[in-house]
Amino acid sequence: MTDMLQKLKNAVRSRSIHVAYVDTGSCNGCDIEVLACLSPRYDLEQYGIYVHNNPREADILLVIGCCTPQWEDKLKGIWEKIPEPKAAIAIGNCPVSGCVFNREGSYVNPPASKHIPIAASVPGCPPRPTEIIRAVLSLAPTIFADYEEKRQ
Ligand code: SF4
Repeated sequence: MTDMLQKLKNAVRSRSIHVAYVDTGSCNGCDIEVLACLSPRYDLEQYGIYVHNNPREADILLVIGCCTPQWEDKLKGIWEKIPEPKAAIAIGNCPVSGCVFNREGSYVNPPASKHIPIAASVPGCPPRPTEIIRAVLSLAPTIFADYEEKRQ
């Protein structure tokens, strides 16, 4: 593939990002912020980011919640179904660090990076929609560029 075609492919991919999200046991605070990204106020799709829940068509996985035992294997399974190039972003303090739930004898098993590779984190309880959108937009060009370089 010529350099120009490759640049074009990367440019298109960096502005046509398919996102799936998984809630591994949240209080729903972070879910509401992700849903707010789709509202007219933040209008996620104006940036070329499309949310749907088919991991086989996703580029980026948003992980929410503090990883309950029921979700550990399911999270890995969803991650494996996403085709390369791919990346996961931890949304909120729960998957980033476990926050108050990360203590001795806790029922849950955070952070999400224990279970799948996490490329970026958006801390906050919950984080703002603008921070979630910024994380997706800043990560996408990097994953696609790196992938093309690795394939050469
Ligand atoms: S980070 Fe905060 S708002 Fe988000 S799921 Fe955890 S407790 Fe809820």
